[in-house]
Amino acid sequence: MSLDSALLLEAAHFAAEKHKRQRRKDPEATPYINHPIGVARILSHEAGIADIEVLQAALLHDTVEDTDTSIIELEAVFGQTVARIVQEVTDDKTLPKQERKRQQVEHAPHCSQQAKLVKLADKLYNLRDLSRSTPVGWTEERVHEYFVWAAQVVRGLRGTNQILENKLQQLFKQRGVEM
Ligand code: NDP
Ligand code: ZN
Repeated sequence: MSLDSALLLEAAHFAAEKHKRQRRKDPEATPYINHPIGVARILSHEAGIADIEVLQAALLHDTVEDTDTSIIELEAVFGQTVARIVQEVTDDKTLPKQERKRQQVEHAPHCSQQAKLVKLADKLYNLRDLSRSTPVGWTEERVHEYFVWAAQVVRGLRGTNQILENKLQQLFKQRGVEM
């Protein structure tokens, strides 16, 4: 087996363990791990990204925000670069939700290229999910607001990957949201 395959499996295994008790917000309550695996797959399968650190970070991208994982732990297991990418895509949970949303818009243009790729794929995955089914307890208005906010974030990520940006642009257009 190649070294890269082994590294990817390590990250997938680590994320699966960390997210094992979590579910997504869709009506089927899909296992949480489907999301990070799907984000990594968008990058490799759809965008043709082969950067192993980006793919590992995609698999791990929600472990710090949504589980007990620390950046120090990621650094020890996966190295500085992967930990730094995850750090860049992690919201500061000490801030109120509205402020976190505002900061994502503000910080997006200043992220590294590697973090920008993960952010684009994460948004693409979530917007596809929202297009497929409305999360439990969400109104159509809330879904629309999410698209409007995501478009603001994606605007700050432009010039990173044309394939992903075109696919996102298509989703925003379907919703009548300006990017
Ligand atoms: P949240 O930030 O609460 O939820 C969206 C996040 O949930 C996504 O970014 C994604 O994050 C994760 N997620 C899990 N399952 C799904 C799924 N099936 N589809 C899409 N995303 C999923 O939502 P909002 O952005 O709407 O929250 C914004 C603010 O508005 C908050 O403060 C919220 O409390 C508030 N609010 C707004 C209401 C409204 O009507 N507008 C009503 C109530 C509250 P990840 O990729 O990290 O997993
Ligand atoms: Zn995510």
